[in-house]
Amino acid sequence: MTDASAPITQDFVTIPRKMPDGPLNLLGLTRDALHDTLIAAGTSEKQAKMRTGQLWQWIYQKGVRQFDEMTNLSKEYRALLTENFVITLPEVVSKQVSVDGTRKYLVRIAGGHEVETVYIPETDRGTLCISSQVGCTLTCSFCHTGTQKLVRNLTSGEIIGQVMLARDDLGEWPEPGRNPANTARLLSNIVLMGMGEPLYNFENVRDAMKIAMDPEGIQLSRRRITLSTSGVVPEIARTATEIGCLLAVSFHGTTDEVRDKLVPINKRWNLEALLDALRDYPKVSNSERITFEYVMLKGVNDTDEDAHRLVELIKGIPAKVNLIPFNPWPGAPYQRSSNNRINAFAEIIYKAGYASPVRKPRGEDIFAACGQLKSATERARKSRKEIAAEAGIS
Ligand code: SAH
Ligand code: SF4
Repeated sequence: MTDASAPITQDFVTIPRKMPDGPLNLLGLTRDALHDTLIAAGTSEKQAKMRTGQLWQWIYQKGVRQFDEMTNLSKEYRALLTENFVITLPEVVSKQVSVDGTRKYLVRIAGGHEVETVYIPETDRGTLCISSQVGCTLTCSFCHTGTQKLVRNLTSGEIIGQVMLARDDLGEWPEPGRNPANTARLLSNIVLMGMGEPLYNFENVRDAMKIAMDPEGIQLSRRRITLSTSGVVPEIARTATEIGCLLAVSFHGTTDEVRDKLVPINKRWNLEALLDALRDYPKVSNSERITFEYVMLKGVNDTDEDAHRLVELIKGIPAKVNLIPFNPWPGAPYQRSSNNRINAFAEIIYKAGYASPVRKPRGEDIFAACGQLKSATERARKSRKEIAAEAGIS
């Protein structure tokens, strides 16, 4: 069955930051949490604020992980840090590089679970697609990640850790003495479009993105971060006020009947509820426009009528429509619409006054394209029959 009627807060395995007997990992702590942690370890109240800023700069701007290398801290203070804390990233198990330059990292997190992170180089930017959960509870019928049974939320450290391990691989930490703000950015954009539903892991995603946006953190503008949701309506307003990044929504259907099948969360928050929440987003978050993602599925949601209905539905919302040719995976019950169909669909939307770019699949040869992510070791998979039954396809 789908999880469309499941509560928002779900019982995931919570991995404690402090492993039994091990030192505490500072990665991913909010400023406040780090501040309090330093005080608990013996830092004076007077110094804690300054130390927090210094540590953030070392960790997130310079990529330093050994306290001994933090040269503006006294020897005694470095010893205290070494005794109590570590700065550790999730482990990269493997890296694959596509013929088009896309890099896919298989990343192991605490407990031995794995997620995927994808770096997509383009001429004017480099985008990192990061995961927020192991698997996904939401079983969208066209998405490979949704067929993975196992789910756990990533911690904020595991989320921001993906940005840092990609920067390690790209060799993107600034040289000593160089202002990080002036460093050319190979990793200039973040999209929360990997495995998982980011708004089902709101606090960890928020805390990690705060680090990504902070002037003493990774220093990316909030307009360079896009969070994609399948439509967790109650959390959309919070995303505007508490994160303020750009929003993308997995729309994919223009009637409740079709969207119920493609994106089962629609049974809980239907098109009307979703569109109401989206209408307020640009105002509240002060961002320009919402990206409507629309996967092109042959004979399912790709007619001219669908395109006209889509335009009607989004009327009044500052928007762009990103058309995603369906990326196949083994057992998928759908096919990609033809190029002609996709172009005709795009044209209708464009003529109605909306940008309607067709997303070019990247990293297909290494199975890194949208919706194909799924950790290779995660074998527990639903059968074709189960997938088709959930999608309401006989
Ligand atoms: N869970 C979030 C973010 C991850 S999915 C969400 O659903 O928005 C990132 C995007 O890829 C979504 O728009 C999703 O609908 C799309 N997608 C999933 N499977 C796909 C596939 N097989 N082909 C093309 N796009 C797909
Ligand atoms: Fe989850 Fe997004 Fe895939 Fe749906 S499209 S199953 S919400 S990852």
